[in-house]
Amino acid sequence: MQIANLEDRLVILNGGGAVDVEQASDGRFGHDPQRIYDRWDEFLEWAREDRVQGVAFDPARLRAPAPRPRQVFAFGLNYRNHADEVGYDHERAAPPVFTKFPTSITGPYADVVHPGGSVDWEVELVVVIGRHARRIQASEAWAFVAGLTVGQDISERDLQHEGELPQFSLGKSYPGFAPMGPWLTTIDELEDPDDLELSCEVNGETMQQATTAQLILAVPQLIERLSQVTPLLPGDAIFTGTPAGVGLARVPQRFLSPGDEVVSRITGLGELRNRIVAGA
Ligand code: ZN
Repeated sequence: MQIANLEDRLVILNGGGAVDVEQASDGRFGHDPQRIYDRWDEFLEWAREDRVQGVAFDPARLRAPAPRPRQVFAFGLNYRNHADEVGYDHERAAPPVFTKFPTSITGPYADVVHPGGSVDWEVELVVVIGRHARRIQASEAWAFVAGLTVGQDISERDLQHEGELPQFSLGKSYPGFAPMGPWLTTIDELEDPDDLELSCEVNGETMQQATTAQLILAVPQLIERLSQVTPLLPGDAIFTGTPAGVGLARVPQRFLSPGDEVVSRITGLGELRNRIVAGA
């Protein structure tokens, strides 16, 4: 199943169209896409019976499938080739965890205002949690996932690196720095959720290309690691890390400017198209 956020209304995508969940369920489920994760199991059971044909819609109206998570986790340096390109010893320490503050979330086709500085791209698989998860073992972790979506961990490198220790969370949290979407895909739709091809293009030029099979900590291990410390709440989002090919590590370095278009794609999950625009 694929669910989406159509201008702040929860829809199920079916036959190329959208089924409004509040209407189709006679009000049993509300319109708010974020709140459905609190009733995920109940919703799945209801949705399984749903056979209504979707209504055509303009994809430009799609917004982030989890627009207001209570917690957003992000892993840095979780692909060996990316750790290598920025000179991080991934044998010595586990990938670092930070947050992207939730106000940075935006939609799959939204414009992103360039805040100045060195703005970089990072295509990432994003996990959305569907059940309260506390001290979960990796072997059972997929059962706590509502679904997967495409994400961009847009990063302003000057702020990220201005001090002696990195300012990951601030440098990655300007408004619009967390595009997500275009919809959420449940795990049963995917042949192998641990092996998904992802890529990032800037103005049509491929910058990143990898598979999530190359993650140092795969999705189940990320859930195990986080949930040993902090409960994962329904609707929380986890950015899983980016592969090699970011602008920071290029020679010469390359960053985004107003007018650039960033396309982020994961096979089976769809693609984001975000244009960088000048600030007001
Ligand atoms: Zn990242």
